[in-house]
Amino acid sequence: MVQLSPKSNKIAIVGAGPSGVYCALSILNLFKKNNYSDFFIEIFDKDEPLKTILKTGNGRCNITNYIPDIKEFASNYPRGEKFLYSVFFKHFIFETLDFFNSIGVKTYVEDDKRVFPVSQSASDVRNKMLDALRSFKNAKFIKKEIYNSSELCSYNKIIVCCGSRNTDKIIKGFGHSLVDFKKALCPLIVENNFSLEGVSVKSLDGDFIFTRNGVSGPLIFKISSLNAYRKFPYDIKIKLFDENELLELVKKFPKKSIGNLLCNFIPRSLAKKLVLEFDKNACEIPKSTVINYSNLSLKVISTSSFGEIVRAGGVNLCELDKNCKSRIKDNLWFCGEILDIDGFCGGFNLQNCWSSAYCVAFDVVSSIIKK
Ligand SMILES: Cc1cc2nc3c(=O)[nH]c(=O)nc-3n(C[C@H](O)[C@H](O)[C@H](O)COP(=O)(O)OP(=O)(O)OC[C@H]3O[C@@H](n4cnc5c(N)ncnc54)[C@H](O)[C@@H]3O)c2cc1C
Repeated sequence: MVQLSPKSNKIAIVGAGPSGVYCALSILNLFKKNNYSDFFIEIFDKDEPLKTILKTGNGRCNITNYIPDIKEFASNYPRGEKFLYSVFFKHFIFETLDFFNSIGVKTYVEDDKRVFPVSQSASDVRNKMLDALRSFKNAKFIKKEIYNSSELCSYNKIIVCCGSRNTDKIIKGFGHSLVDFKKALCPLIVENNFSLEGVSVKSLDGDFIFTRNGVSGPLIFKISSLNAYRKFPYDIKIKLFDENELLELVKKFPKKSIGNLLCNFIPRSLAKKLVLEFDKNACEIPKSTVINYSNLSLKVISTSSFGEIVRAGGVNLCELDKNCKSRIKDNLWFCGEILDIDGFCGGFNLQNCWSSAYCVAFDVVSSIIKK
């Protein structure tokens, strides 16, 4: 146990998810580098620490994405892109990967640039982060739900990072306003999914799969994110394939059935639903109809209640400075998914956690050391 003086800095972190634990570790490392020890961190969580990381990347934890250019990286956030420039300038993928390497999490980059731990295990990432935290004496977890700043009066510095599930009250409880939360990166329910549950499609726009009552998969997550604040119902159009390639086949094989030619581009079960005259000779179908087969139009009626990855919305960024510090209350910071920042699939949401958490840590430590 560390000896605290009456003037010791007491730091409270609300939420022991990826951003809370990364923030704590960053504070501990920065103080260590500065030979400063007159502080104590208490990390509050209503649940077990880092439980939320276990589900990430289907249990493999997609830590980040290897796009070395900050602007290009930030373009993967439908909300928060500009705010993240200065955040990433302070702490970006290279610093994150160095950090994970330093605690024994070796990483590798997949062909599509997504970064995973070599262990392919989110549980390994969790254990290594928690082991690193336990190696310091100045930090401890406390299992407790926190709802407002008055519960934390005895702390000099407060960091709130409790994610985006049921956090409206907490944001208000800490004196801030919020941009309404909406589901982003989630499956969509559509008016007519052709009873094609389980059929997966590789379209020009991206991959997707038909579900019991709608559509899901990487393309649909992206569409749901881009339309997070749109009113239902709305129409979406998916470019299934290049129509010129089908037109060429029609020219080459005019006596083949249009349905069979379409099967070169999309699953037979989908072709059967889209083409009423499946067995008709391709040359008998008007060109405009052939071209239309390359687009799939769907009417989205709502988001699905299952399979949601992140939420759009959160702490209003106008009320924060570039270090994620409150402009409204002294000694208060926010980081991670509680911010009005959300990215596409591919490691972008965790990178927001790592980078914003580090920015907060740096600012908190600077504010104490500079005193
Ligand atoms: C299925 C799934 C898979 C995902 N996969 C990936 C991926 O591979 N890569 C990626 O980049 N992103 C992924 N994400 C998104 C990523 O997990 C989140 O962006 C990230 O967990 C947010 O971290 P956070 O610490 O800000 O919040 P959270 O992870 O939500 O953690 C918040 C913590 O605060 C606690 N808490 C909440 N309210 C209170 C309270 N009142 N008092 C005390 N404690 C409280 C919670 O118990 C929790 O432990 C995935 C999300 C899901 C759901």
